[in-house]
Amino acid sequence: MRWINHNATAFCVTYAVSANPVLSVIAAVSATVPDAVEHLPLFHRHRGVSHDILLWVPVSSLLWIMTYVPIGGILAISHLAGLLQLVVLGVILGVMMHLITDGLSALGVPVLRKYRFAAGWYKTFTWSEYKISLCICLPCLAVCLALGRLSPKLGNWMMYLNLA
Ligand SMILES: [Zn+2]
Repeated sequence: MRWINHNATAFCVTYAVSANPVLSVIAAVSATVPDAVEHLPLFHRHRGVSHDILLWVPVSSLLWIMTYVPIGGILAISHLAGLLQLVVLGVILGVMMHLITDGLSALGVPVLRKYRFAAGWYKTFTWSEYKISLCICLPCLAVCLALGRLSPKLGNWMMYLNLA
């Protein structure tokens, strides 16, 4: 899936679920991480180990647990702890959305290197990819519209940053 579609689907799903524009932007930006790390030697193969959901589950769990571990007293500053948890949650959501949407493609994603999850709903770099992206984003926008979440409330920025 093109990065623009990864960004859009991660933003829309996260915003529909959380109504938090900051968390949604973090998820949207992070939605390219599994492709971006393929430039590193360990993850060199396209849709290889960097796209294995069973690799990301323990990595995500470890990242989340680390937000509760006091490292160098940084979490003693309560505002930083909340902000760090928001960033980590956004990264986890972005990465998971990437893996799910890649898994919907014909090529799919690996599961434990040996198996593949490939729903086959679209082919990458074709119009079918944009159709799937719209099929994800439009219902999310409808949910936001129905729940009155289309415009973030400017007075809530401390809450959006998990600082309140
Ligand atoms: Zn990918």
